[in-house]
Amino acid sequence: MVKETEYYERLGVPPDASPEQLKKAYRKLAMQYHPDKNPAGGEKFKKISQAYEVLSNPKKRRTYDEGGEEALQSGGGFRNPMDVFNMFFGGMAGGGGSGDDEEDDDEMGSFNFFGAGSGAKSRRQQPPLEHRLVVSLEQLMVGGWRTLKLDRKRPCGSCSGRGGKVNAATSVCTTCKGKGVKLTYQQLGPGLMEMHGTCTDCGGAGRVIAEADRCVTCKGNCTVNDTKITKVHVERGMRNGSRILLKGEGDQEAGQKEAGDVVIILQEKAHDTFVRDGLDLHMEMTVSLTESLCGLRRPVTTLDGRTLVVGQPPGDVLEPGGELRVPAEGLPMLRNPYIRGDLIIKFTVDLPERVSETFLEDFEAMFPRTNKPLELSGEEEQVNMMPFDPSERVDEGRGRGRHNPYEEEPMETDDQPPGCRQS
Ligand SMILES: [Zn+2]
Ligand SMILES: [Zn+2]
Repeated sequence: MVKETEYYERLGVPPDASPEQLKKAYRKLAMQYHPDKNPAGGEKFKKISQAYEVLSNPKKRRTYDEGGEEALQSGGGFRNPMDVFNMFFGGMAGGGGSGDDEEDDDEMGSFNFFGAGSGAKSRRQQPPLEHRLVVSLEQLMVGGWRTLKLDRKRPCGSCSGRGGKVNAATSVCTTCKGKGVKLTYQQLGPGLMEMHGTCTDCGGAGRVIAEADRCVTCKGNCTVNDTKITKVHVERGMRNGSRILLKGEGDQEAGQKEAGDVVIILQEKAHDTFVRDGLDLHMEMTVSLTESLCGLRRPVTTLDGRTLVVGQPPGDVLEPGGELRVPAEGLPMLRNPYIRGDLIIKFTVDLPERVSETFLEDFEAMFPRTNKPLELSGEEEQVNMMPFDPSERVDEGRGRGRHNPYEEEPMETDDQPPGCRQS
């Protein structure tokens, strides 16, 4: 039985709203009335934050449902509305959480998530966890959501991160014998180096919760392994090395106020056709002699799945090694997708290996030689031309290579300084 419904009304949801509905409603209103966007909306912002703070917490919601606002007073005041906001959006900045459309993400981007609240407390956080995410050029072209599984440590819910019962009995930590310090030895050159570290079994306290009083869920570790399936927004125009921050999605030790962050680092997969150079895409195309002279029409499938017809009209000669540019068929600029790079196609002309005598006669008739015939004095030397094979080059150290250079030369390894190969 719900006594008061004002908090639900503030968020514009029915009293039986699900946590998802509450989130959605708060998300929309908080955006609308955030002081950065709506300086006159301060009071309203406070009211919706308070309502959400209460209704999003099952215990507080029950108290409110049973006894109304009056019943909440005994449980202490409200949090700073800004903290409520930062906590809510902190978990989703950069594309995590329940975000499902691009527009909202852009709006979120205009708030400063790294400002108030995170600076002073950051030392109480775990360092960010870095994850690599392999993305195809297609994905970087069109953008999209990727689903990720995050494994992280979270304070145990069964014991509220205490590791055992309230007022649990403790015993001396057997690992460090109560010192709270753990010695490890590390090989350093010829000797061993003694390293002092905090005992991980007792967290440096020297005592652990007695076995009988330990929390069954976390076995006294105070934290549990938690898995979260989350979505990451790969934005159009991101590149190799682009970083996506998932705020508060990392590890959290018991006693830490905030969870650490997760940083997703994009790793661009090599593409079969295209090579990226900034916003430009480069590709190579081998065409026949006929195509290079008599007109070319070839399909090119773009990264976003369209088919372009590229080519030249008959009579425009395609030069071997020449490059042509298709404007604005490259990659979009990050957050400004109307600006796009170009597609650059480099042509290789596949010349026939031999041509017939009749062809030569006709050809010379059509394209007479322009250089003067060579007049010989009889002193010149006639030479043989051979196919060029780099492995038969004369080596400065060894002379003419009759060997396979790849067998005799040492492999390049990491411990060999670069540049010492004799080749
Ligand atoms: Zn210990
Ligand atoms: Zn526990």
